[in-house]
Amino acid sequence: MRWSKYLIPTLKEDPAEAEAVSHKLMVRAGLVRMLAAGIYVYLPLGQRVMEKINAIIREEMNRIGGQEVTMPVIHPAELWQQTGRWYDIGDEMFRLKDRNKRDMCLGMTHEEVVAWLASKEVRSYRNLPQIWYQIQTKERDEARPKSGVLRTREFLMKDSYSLDMDEAGLDRSYELHREAYCRVFERCGLRFYVVESDPGMMGGAGAHEFMAPSPAGEDEVAICSSCGYAANIELACSQPNKPAFPSWRLEEVATPDCRTIEQVSSYLGIDPGLTIKSLMVVTQEGPLLCLVRGDQRLHEKKLFRLIGEFRPAHRDEIKKISQAEAGFIGPLGIDLPILADSCLQEGVYVAGANKDGYHIRGVIPGQHFKARYADLHLAQTGEGCPKCGNTLTVECAIEVGNIFKLGIKYSVPLKAHFLDEKGEARPIIMGSYGIGPARIAAAAIEQNHDANGIIWPKSIAPFQVHLLVVNVSDPKMREMAERLYEELCRNGIEVLFDDRDERPGVKFKDADLLGIPIRVTVGTLAIKEGLVDIRVRRTGEEVRVPEGEGVNRVKARLGGVM
Ligand code: ATP
Ligand code: MG
Repeated sequence: MRWSKYLIPTLKEDPAEAEAVSHKLMVRAGLVRMLAAGIYVYLPLGQRVMEKINAIIREEMNRIGGQEVTMPVIHPAELWQQTGRWYDIGDEMFRLKDRNKRDMCLGMTHEEVVAWLASKEVRSYRNLPQIWYQIQTKERDEARPKSGVLRTREFLMKDSYSLDMDEAGLDRSYELHREAYCRVFERCGLRFYVVESDPGMMGGAGAHEFMAPSPAGEDEVAICSSCGYAANIELACSQPNKPAFPSWRLEEVATPDCRTIEQVSSYLGIDPGLTIKSLMVVTQEGPLLCLVRGDQRLHEKKLFRLIGEFRPAHRDEIKKISQAEAGFIGPLGIDLPILADSCLQEGVYVAGANKDGYHIRGVIPGQHFKARYADLHLAQTGEGCPKCGNTLTVECAIEVGNIFKLGIKYSVPLKAHFLDEKGEARPIIMGSYGIGPARIAAAAIEQNHDANGIIWPKSIAPFQVHLLVVNVSDPKMREMAERLYEELCRNGIEVLFDDRDERPGVKFKDADLLGIPIRVTVGTLAIKEGLVDIRVRRTGEEVRVPEGEGVNRVKARLGGVM
């Protein structure tokens, strides 16, 4: 491809609103342009990257027996009404009416359509298992589209769906996907973890996410480098480090105006880990007191999974029940069910006295109050791994893919049944599996760049070789570059030929920005001595070789780079 005839609008400056490195570089390298919030145009270079990624995904999906289909982006509301998601999903769903005033929506995902199709086309256990996949546009009116293509309102997703006759079949399909996904992300040059995750709105029995560590990620994962434990922070457990417990006797202590854990612990001169944080919430069944250790944070999602919908108690409710203000409430002598974080099962603490201006020191959970214990705290870096006890680290990551065991959540309402060996109708057991190609591209940039630009992993680079002619107006230089271009292309190498009439400085800067793995430069030495420069973008290594050896050297280099 000749740059002079190609649309690669590189920019010197970062786009004003961009924070994520991948966002800045994708715009500056001329891969994408934003049409509206969270809605992007892929320019030729960006399109090539996406096609590379999609081809890898296709190969790996085909390898596990996936069959490619295309399902519509526009769906009749009835399907979504039957599963209830029409009502459960809020503003994230784009809804519209057709000319006959019938409700329609734009597909956010395709479980409903798959279950509908299965209800029509799968008859018997002999038709199972099936894996259907597509690489199709999804529409979601995301609340906060941001970070370039990492979270957009229209995006491409490879979504696949497994149909099985029993749980054992689902386990096999799930495992096939897990392996295929690992191969996809490895081939795309990503560092990633497979983590346990919360099935959330998909429902179902088990779920994993594929997380590419990056500061631009909106997710957090807890990782143990000793035993390999890895979990989304929404599920992650940890063993908080134990403070040295003093031998206190039970007594009331004045803590004037000390309402927060920081105030109480500094006033009493103690480690915040020796205090109990008490939070009153109101659930469907009434008020409840939740306790976490003072140095911990209550994990609202964990609490939600235990008690369902809840809200913080209002001031007057707190006063009425505890006779005290929020900063002084505690588990002793309060007439409320108590739910406490598991780590409080051990130790002695300072807790609110249910009396304004006072706390109680020497509180021993189990001895001085009764509670139900559960994991309620947010895991933090430095705490113990729940599996092996070694140190956990919590880091930001980009969710590039996920896999869910759905079970019969969609097949029952949409009547996706099959006849088993005895001729009895049973619901098909489903799994659902997603990958975001744009997130792979962005995550690859997040993990592979330097101050000068992108460093593409070879497998997903828009081109393999960047051929740069220093002075296109010099006939000899041009001639040699043209010869090399032809020969490289003839050898099946994808070449971007920078044949623009631009200053060399601009061309070199652009080459670094674009991040194509190998750069071949035809400059003054080319005409003087017949030499060309071959440079590896990732390492900066450069060799000077006679023109005749150029193509073979390029091939050898390509074999060696990631
Ligand atoms: P998130 O939690 O980040 O919103 P999700 O759980 O909604 O993701 P799924 O609905 O399971 O994601 O989609 C499967 C894959 O599609 C994700 O792993 C991700 O790679 C990609 N994806 C999801 N939402 C977006 C989006 N708004 N923009 C770009 N890619 C997305
Ligand atoms: Mg989402």
